[in-house]
Parts: sequence; C-alpha cells; structure tokens
Amino acid sequence: MAFLDIQNLEKSFGANRVVKDFNLGIEEGEFVSLLGPSGCGKTTVLRMVAGFETPSVGAILIDGRNVVGLRPNQRNIGMVFQAYALFPNLAVADNVAFGLKIKGVGRAEREARVTEMLQLIGLGEFGDRYPFQLSGGQQQRVALARALAVQPKVLLLDEPLSALDAKIRVSLRDEIRAIQRRLGITTIFVTHDQEEALSISDRVVVMNGGIAEQVGRPHEIYNRPSTRFVAEFVGTLNLLEAEVLDRATGRLRLGGGEVTLGRPVAADRATVAMRPEVLGLGRSGEDDLVLSGRIEDVHFLGSVIRIQASVPGGRIMLDTFNQPGSPPPAPGSVAEFGVNSSHLLVLEG
Ligand code: ATP
Repeated sequence: MAFLDIQNLEKSFGANRVVKDFNLGIEEGEFVSLLGPSGCGKTTVLRMVAGFETPSVGAILIDGRNVVGLRPNQRNIGMVFQAYALFPNLAVADNVAFGLKIKGVGRAEREARVTEMLQLIGLGEFGDRYPFQLSGGQQQRVALARALAVQPKVLLLDEPLSALDAKIRVSLRDEIRAIQRRLGITTIFVTHDQEEALSISDRVVVMNGGIAEQVGRPHEIYNRPSTRFVAEFVGTLNLLEAEVLDRATGRLRLGGGEVTLGRPVAADRATVAMRPEVLGLGRSGEDDLVLSGRIEDVHFLGSVIRIQASVPGGRIMLDTFNQPGSPPPAPGSVAEFGVNSSHLLVLEG
C-alpha cells in the first residue's frame, strides 16, 4: 500500500460535487503536484488530507492509518498556505517554534530545532526579526520552516509561490524541492501553473471538474496526454482538423499534406495535435508529413526561436533552436514544416 493512500474520495458542498471519485497513492518521499484550473477541486482535496474539510465519501490513509475523523493537529501533517500566514506578533524563531511548543517539546530541543530549521531555509541570522521585516519569499521560507519543525509525515503546499514575483517563484520552488529531497518528506503541492508542476514533481495529477484526468510523470503527461483536456491544459499545442481518408490505417489529410499514422482512427474527421517543438523548419529524412505555409511572425527568445505560420486549415507555432550561423526566416516568406507521424496526437472527445 502507498504511504499516503487516498481512496474513493468525494466532496459535495450542498448539491455541488466538487471532488469526484478521487484516488491517488503516493510513495514515501514522493513529490506529487495537483495541477488544474481554478475551481477544479485541488485545494479541497488538500484540505481533506489536512483535516480542514471532511470528505463526503472515502478514506485517507497515512502510513496505513485512516486519518478521516482525526483533527488536523492529530494527523502529523505540515502545511504551507498561499498567503504567508505567519503570526505577525511573533519573531521568526518563535513562529518556527510554535508547533513544537504546542507539542510540549522542551526548551533546549526547541531551540536546537529552530536553529536547524532556520539554517535549512538559509535564514540562520533572521531569528529575531518580525514577519513585517521580511520579503515575501523570506516569509514563505519561514512558513516552510514552521511546517517542517514538527517533523511531519506529510507536507502539504497550497500554492505557496503564487503571491511572489516571477523570479523569486523560480528560485524558491527549486529551494523547496531541494529541501523536500534532503528530508525525504512525502509532499503534495497544489498549483495551477503547469510549468511549476512539470518542473519540480515526481508525478503530476491533472485535475478537471473534481476528477483526476491523468496521473503520471511530467514527461508522460506532456508527451502522452490521455485526454483532450490534459493535452490542451498542459503546454502549447497546435491543433489542425484532419479528414480521415482511411480509418483502418489512420491515413489523414491535414494542413495541405497527407500522412499515415499506422494506427486506426475512430471517425471520419479527427483533431490532430502537435507540440511546437516536434515541427521542424524545412524537410528532414525523418518527416512523413510536410506542411507548407507562410511565416507570419518570428519571436527570437534567445536559445529558442518561436515561429508562427499559417498553413492550409489553420495556424501553427513551431519552436526551433537558435543556430548562430543562420538567421531565422523572415515574416512573409514561404516555408515547409516537417513532422514525424509518431509525434502526432489524435484527440478524441
Ligand atoms: P483555485 O486554484 O482557484 O484555488 P481549486 O482547484 O483549488 O481552485 P477549490 O478551492 O478546491 O478549487 O474549489 C472547488 C470548488 O468547490 C469551487 O467551485 C469552489 O467554489 C467550491 N468550494 C470550495 N470550498 C467551498 C465551501 N466551503 N463551500 C461551498 N463551496 C466551496
């Protein structure tokens, strides 16, 4: 059995079912993100694990014990919220010591643990400061230290980076992940930011309308989305409508070209999706579909060049690496875009 095992979880507020038949097993030390649009039920799942909401149906097992029915402080869980939520009238060290004090940990051990925690988050010299004397990123690090000080079995992070500006977000997310790895603590991280989820998670749960649409490693979620929702929510996607010429072999006409997928397609029409990076500028020996079109826009982003082009039946975006010896094509020019059929996703539903 998984270390944290969420079984058949459901939650309704009145007639509104906001979490539906949610199942998830998380191994000890694993870092799992719940990713999805606003209102999809991520926070409600997290709050049920924490004990701030009671499930309508289902069980939540931590290390083999069903914690449904236990109060939050009986669950051995640490939580960091979106808003900084530090006690404003307590110095940093007292904020970190708070849970230890409640647990009745003696003074000497408490002080040693606070020192250790402050060093862990890189704020060893900040124990005497008050929250208002800290930046947002520093306050969130203190909130993390406070959550970890009691040595919880599970760490729950509810969009802990969303109030911070972009640069701090990236550095703090990497720091959180490094600390989580060092401590080996089982963690659930809630976010609506797909880049954040893909970059730091062992596994990602993509949620939609209270349901877990797909659970998988970042590489799997991005490259083999199991539903149309996941494909569209995670990453950038080019969508082209295709006419199905032969259902059995998956022969398609799209974007002014023809291609055989070598796998059956269920209907006479299909939506074909492709990521910007699987399209190449020009033809290569690997391509079995070549689209021709006109370059509309070129964004030079540094290492990557993002090109927008119109092709028969739609517009596409493609990403190509910067080549120091050859400048990108000019807007208005005509070009070919090649892709291998194994990179084409046929979206059903
Ligand atoms: P966000 O990213 O915006 O925080 P979320 O995915 O975390 O969204 P939840 O906060 O879990 O979503 O909310 C899921 C749904 O449940 C929403 O429609 C919300 O309005 C509803 N909801 C949450 N808490 C309550 C409550 N206490 N009473 C009634 N409805 C609630």
